[in-house]
Amino acid sequence: MTEQPIMTEQPKAKLKSRRSFVLVSFIFILCAIWGFENYYVPDENNARISARPVPARPFIAPQWLNLPPMHRQPVEVVLEKGDTLMEMLGGRGIDASTADKALDALRLVYDPRRLQEGQTIRLLFEYPAGATQSARQFAGLDLIPAPTERVIVRRLNNDQFEAVIANRPLTDRPFLTDIEITSSLYEAARASGMAPKLVLRLIQLFSFTVDFQREIRQGDRLEVLYTRRFDPNGAIADEGEILFAALTNKGERKAYWQYKTNEQTTVLYYDIQGKSMTRLLMKTPLDGARLSSRFGIRKHPILGYTSLHRGVDFAARRGTPIYAAGDGIITALGREGDWGRRIRIEHGQNYKTLYAHLRNFASGLKVGDRVTQGQIIGHVGSSGLATGPHLHYEITHNNKSVNPLALNLPAQNILATSHMAHFAEHRQTLNKLAAELAAGL
Ligand SMILES: [Zn+2]
Repeated sequence: MTEQPIMTEQPKAKLKSRRSFVLVSFIFILCAIWGFENYYVPDENNARISARPVPARPFIAPQWLNLPPMHRQPVEVVLEKGDTLMEMLGGRGIDASTADKALDALRLVYDPRRLQEGQTIRLLFEYPAGATQSARQFAGLDLIPAPTERVIVRRLNNDQFEAVIANRPLTDRPFLTDIEITSSLYEAARASGMAPKLVLRLIQLFSFTVDFQREIRQGDRLEVLYTRRFDPNGAIADEGEILFAALTNKGERKAYWQYKTNEQTTVLYYDIQGKSMTRLLMKTPLDGARLSSRFGIRKHPILGYTSLHRGVDFAARRGTPIYAAGDGIITALGREGDWGRRIRIEHGQNYKTLYAHLRNFASGLKVGDRVTQGQIIGHVGSSGLATGPHLHYEITHNNKSVNPLALNLPAQNILATSHMAHFAEHRQTLNKLAAELAAGL
């Protein structure tokens, strides 16, 4: 054995130099942390002494680091309809030439005409440490036009302004909903804390396989694993996406995992066999979130599929958006006897759909137009022979009526065998995440 033993007695001098090295390193790290804290702190609305200009974690323009320490006073303003930035700055006592300079700088990175009503803009006022408020001056502004970016306009020492767009790194955090449905799917999902945007997405996903007005029953179970996006201060900045969704309906659990192969440009949802959730046609071709599908109040004179009635009726509030059930071409659009305002679409593979009693058609839509699945084609009404607002939806295959409830169309996408092993791994990861969240509930 020629190796050195692990424990050796160190000469005292060597030990001392090591100690001072540790000490110096420690001080260095402390300084680094102090520096980091000093420059990268959360956005706060309190006036404070700070060497930092407009807070823009984690981005800071290097030249701004030399600005002197200032008392900062941010003022939040929400843009109202018809407001312009120029007027808004003028209204806050900022003189026209200063406002001009700030807006000129802003225009280099962001077009203020893109600003929408409701946009929050933070104006920054500051005065030197040790001075009084009378020395207060306009120091710039910042705004968050999209969840992942912040536009910052900053006054420099020479009274010129400079603007940058800083990234706001968002962190995705997973959430789990696991609930029994006691009202509509929409209400149940909303009550569990899911944001309206995600619930709508969820409903659109299940619209291919579930008729929300007839098939959802009290006691059905909904499981959703989804994400939300948080800014560096821990505030919700944006809704995320649905990673996994399962609906136990009439005792049968339909579960789908979000997945994307390398060849795909968008994510799809697949069942355990690798079959996508999407079908040629939707079972619920209208905004399911707005369906009046409370249990027990689904009475309608002509509900469901009978020999006399060759379609299904969705009782829905007047004005509820109606979707094209699948990609296709509009073959009829206008009035037709008892149907009132109706649209017919041809979808290929000899499938056709009919939507009747509409209040109106989507503007600009005409015969011969190509429509995509989920596109809004009109709104629920009671035109023609109808006792109340509802959508009459009918599917024909080879010119024979098909009961939409019994319709079991094949999946639009099926994962190739070569992807199945990786998909299984991906499923396990999501399942594990869901189990961990469930354990923490
Ligand atoms: Zn009908």
